[in-house]
Amino acid sequence: MPLPLDTRKKPADVEIHVTSGAGMDITWADGHQSHYDFPYLRDLCPCALCDEERRKDAALSGPGAAPLGPVLPMYKPKAKAKSAVAVGSYAIQIHFSDGHSTGIYSYDYLRTICPCEACKLEFRSTPQ
Ligand SMILES: [Zn+2]
Ligand SMILES: [Zn+2]
Repeated sequence: MPLPLDTRKKPADVEIHVTSGAGMDITWADGHQSHYDFPYLRDLCPCALCDEERRKDAALSGPGAAPLGPVLPMYKPKAKAKSAVAVGSYAIQIHFSDGHSTGIYSYDYLRTICPCEACKLEFRSTPQ
């Protein structure tokens, strides 16, 4: 799969701090920097299983619940990454401490879930 042509979704530099547990930093081709914590990434895991679970959660919490919002129940142990590998040039696969490793985070998706306010407005605002 070729890299997306959109420079906002093209990584210039990727650092994954697996050992320190500090999360992941991406500098994008447009100069924007994103930081992701591992629990945040775990909650937004794009695999079919987690997608299904979020759908159920969203249905349970009723209308007004943000489908992309991170769900962080307090009883859940904080997810850590055991390892992370690049998948071709388009994605990163993270192996989490809870044994989950089916999530493949494409850069396209990662830019979309960047936790900063600007990206929230740019990629996740719902048009009225
Ligand atoms: Zn998953
Ligand atoms: Zn951002």
